[in-house]
Amino acid sequence: MQTKFKLLFIVALMLLGLTTATIINTSLNFREYSINSAVEKSKMAATIVKDGLTAHMVNGMMDKRQYFLDQISSNDDIKSLWLVRSDNVKKQYGEGFANETIRDAIDTKVLETGEMVQKVIEHTDKIYLRVSIPYKATITGTPNCLSCHDVKKGDTLGAISMEFDISAMRNTGLLTILKIFGINMLFLVIVLFLINHYIAPYIKLFSNMQNGIKKAYRGDFTYNFTSSVSGGDAQQVIKHLNTLFSKMQETFGTIKHDLSTFIPQGCTSSSDPLYEAKTIIGELSDIYKFKKTIELDSSKNLVYKRIIDILKIKYKIQHFALYEVNNQSAARTLIYISQGDSICLKHVDQDAMQCRAYRTKTDVISTEFINLCQSCDAKDLKYICIPFVINNDASLIISVTTKDDNEISAVNAHIPSIKNYLEATKPVIESRILMDKLRDTSLRDGMTGLYNRRFLEEFIDQLMSQAQRLDQKYSVMMLDVDWFKMVNDTYGHDMGDKVIIEIASVLKDNIRGADLAIRYGGEEFIVLLHNASQEGALKVAQKIHSAFGNLIFDVGEGKTMQKTMSIGIARFPTDGDSIWKCIKYADTALYRAKNTGRNKIVEFTADMFESEEF
Ligand code: GH3
Ligand code: MG
Ligand code: MG
Repeated sequence: MQTKFKLLFIVALMLLGLTTATIINTSLNFREYSINSAVEKSKMAATIVKDGLTAHMVNGMMDKRQYFLDQISSNDDIKSLWLVRSDNVKKQYGEGFANETIRDAIDTKVLETGEMVQKVIEHTDKIYLRVSIPYKATITGTPNCLSCHDVKKGDTLGAISMEFDISAMRNTGLLTILKIFGINMLFLVIVLFLINHYIAPYIKLFSNMQNGIKKAYRGDFTYNFTSSVSGGDAQQVIKHLNTLFSKMQETFGTIKHDLSTFIPQGCTSSSDPLYEAKTIIGELSDIYKFKKTIELDSSKNLVYKRIIDILKIKYKIQHFALYEVNNQSAARTLIYISQGDSICLKHVDQDAMQCRAYRTKTDVISTEFINLCQSCDAKDLKYICIPFVINNDASLIISVTTKDDNEISAVNAHIPSIKNYLEATKPVIESRILMDKLRDTSLRDGMTGLYNRRFLEEFIDQLMSQAQRLDQKYSVMMLDVDWFKMVNDTYGHDMGDKVIIEIASVLKDNIRGADLAIRYGGEEFIVLLHNASQEGALKVAQKIHSAFGNLIFDVGEGKTMQKTMSIGIARFPTDGDSIWKCIKYADTALYRAKNTGRNKIVEFTADMFESEEF
């Protein structure tokens, strides 16, 4: 509303200025016009008087001139009129009438200079123009001045002096000015009224828009724009603004909600939601790149090195230590320290439960309380210890030390963001820990080098929950040699073992690094094909089946033996939501293969549940 009054005030001021300028201009013009018109009149009177006097002179009636002069000066505008004689004329013709004497300095000046003089004389009630015009001797005209006067050409013979009353003109001027003023005031009132009537709704709309935009700046797009301007562009603008704002509110709300699922509250401190979204997206993009990088890192230690680099380069933390804790034994290992010794007391390495951050699973910030952690000797250093649980087996602790209070606050502000990075490393570290474990020989079968049943029992659940998290699938193959017992019975156990060893190498030759081959027991094997399609899994099964079937075993005495196998296939998670169910279903399919003639591959189908063999 302030804008409206400002506008009205400015327009009023401009119109008043215009009125004043018009009045000044008019009054100046009027005055000039009045004076000029009186001067013109005086010149005309002077000419008439001159011609009249000449006529009197020629007719020898100069002594009757007063009547003629009185007639002329009886004009309403002429207040007084008189003649003055120059010294030359006085010398030749005498002083003249008693009223033909010099009356003021103007008369004297005109006789002396021979130039016309005019002067405005102002009184409070009246205004006069005093004019004196000289008569000069000329040799032109009839009669010639020099024929009667003893003067030279150009000499001043005398002057006619007049006083004009121009008060009436001044009054007319004042009246005109009053009229102009009145008209202008009327115009001003009309203009202000029109502005108020037509412009005010636009100004209201403008301040309405201002309020909406102010709210939008804080990320609130719920403002509803309204306008009393009917029809036309204003209503269109309102409509578009309201559509835009509702779209923004909808989109922005979704973006904010979606982003907050990735990044917890507190990662950004801006009150501008657009800036906040930009920061969060930047953070997400950095974390995504980080995650993609560490996924390709081959060892846990390389992943730890990445965390250290992020702390150093991104967060510019100068002094810190990174520890890994074995959650089972509570033993703590120092992975990295930027300089010097750890601030923790020695016994913390044996028993991580002594570490306040590890035990309480909360961030420990030394500035919050005196001697906060009892298991450290920080001296004059301040510290922040951030615990992070990877899984049941391992946790990490980042311990930042500094003498600078500002650095403590800076690290404190970065904790949510640092934890986002740690969160990204979690599945990778978890899988690297698992891989390390899988290298353990107790999980492998001594005869074939394949994983054994213990491996399946201990790790398959972890592997599969990881697969579910990463949206991976597996095809489960159960393989069993047909009539194997006969081999043992006919050619002895050693021959049987040889066949088992050959199966293992056939499996190894036909599967990829990410697949798992397990000796499930005796001459039964399980193969887990990573991310294989149904056709792909069938192809691998066919390759294994025929490769084994083509093997020719030398059984001595110039004789050979060939064997066949049966394979059952089920798919995880399509057929069953747990790997154990899928193993069971693959076994069911294998059972079907055995019962329907052996030496074949059977894929599990749901109808097998209803069959009697299940
Ligand atoms: P089927 O077609 O029904 O599978 O007939 P099969 O004779 O193969 O029957 P089954 O699978 O029950 O036979 C398993 C035999 O495998 C029994 C066992 O003597 C033999 N076996 C189990 N482990 C080993 C081993 O490590 N070495 C040898 N040589 N034989 C084994
Ligand atoms: Mg068998
Ligand atoms: Mg068997």
